[in-house]
Amino acid sequence: MHYSHSIEKANEFANKALERIRNEGVVPTPENYELWYVFYADLNPEIKRAIEILESSGQDINNERCQELYKRFLSFGKESEQVLEAGNKIQSTIKDVNSVVKDVNESAFKYNTTLSDATNKLSSNVDKEELEVVLQEIMGDTKKMIKQNKVLEKSLSQSSLAIQEMQHDLDTARKEARTDGLTNLANRKAFDSEIERIVHEFKESGEIFSLLMMDIDNFKLFNDTYGHQVGDQVLRLVSGTLIRGIKGRDIAARYGGEEFAIILPQTNLQGGLKVGNSLRITVENKDVVNRSSGEKLGRITLSGGVAEYFPEEDVESLIERADIALYTAKHNGRNQITAAPAPEEKQQKDSV
Ligand code: GH3
Ligand code: MG
Ligand code: MG
Repeated sequence: MHYSHSIEKANEFANKALERIRNEGVVPTPENYELWYVFYADLNPEIKRAIEILESSGQDINNERCQELYKRFLSFGKESEQVLEAGNKIQSTIKDVNSVVKDVNESAFKYNTTLSDATNKLSSNVDKEELEVVLQEIMGDTKKMIKQNKVLEKSLSQSSLAIQEMQHDLDTARKEARTDGLTNLANRKAFDSEIERIVHEFKESGEIFSLLMMDIDNFKLFNDTYGHQVGDQVLRLVSGTLIRGIKGRDIAARYGGEEFAIILPQTNLQGGLKVGNSLRITVENKDVVNRSSGEKLGRITLSGGVAEYFPEEDVESLIERADIALYTAKHNGRNQITAAPAPEEKQQKDSV
């Protein structure tokens, strides 16, 4: 992230950030400073919204929460910087390799000249001394060539190492960019691209699939009663259950705050209902335990809506149908999964 403010403005944000760090009693790490600077300078709407939600619900903004916010919203920029750095390293090793290759080329050209000169000399009558001089020249240049080839070899292996490093950093960055920091599920960005991909694939393969949307019931109450940290623990518990409960090419994503979206390839509506209910029952049977006190805090439930993709419909329509089915499940008393009617059935119903 680039910070380009006037000195006055930057001073103002810096003071506010430091004051906030003192008031909240969080550790004045560079990360926490960056987080609050970004908040006061209004540089990241997602951070602003997340902090405002915490403020309006009177949540404690402690060190752990700040770390979580930093990890979720700011650490990816750092990954990109890492990648940038690796990129620069590669550029400079490639430059080195290029200059060594240039040197080697020049020497090879010179070596060639030396050899043809020697051939010319040797084809005429040469005495022993002249022959020795010619041989010395050839040996000297051969040594030089061998040395330069070694330098080239070293440069090449260095650049191949740098490329491997870059590959690794890119993989990490790519993975982080598609993962939700709190739950380790696919994040919304990854979900958006995966659902587009599977709809696109349907057009070629005609392979059916379903979308299951699930939302934690009365989560606000749970959060308000036990605090945000326990709320986060519940989010992890549900995410863990989803990950363990799906298989193969299924993709579970955190769609929003406490809402999850699961893409189920090769699964029809009945199959989707089965998966949804099995996940729902598993969560329903788990006790939420306060990690520090060991106290049982009760159980949580999930509501869900499942829609089987209908040929020709677009992504928005599929998500909307699953979402409406989820809303119906909530409306009918929660802790249940509802199947979405096909688009036509819905239209028929609407027109009656
Ligand atoms: P419903 O059964 O209708 O879904 O009710 P609900 O209380 O679950 O839904 P509501 O949308 O009213 O509240 C969702 C709550 O989820 C409010 C918000 O504070 C909380 N939330 C969203 N994201 C997070 C998060 O990352 N961590 C925690 N702890 N809570 C979150
Ligand atoms: Mg909810
Ligand atoms: Mg919700």
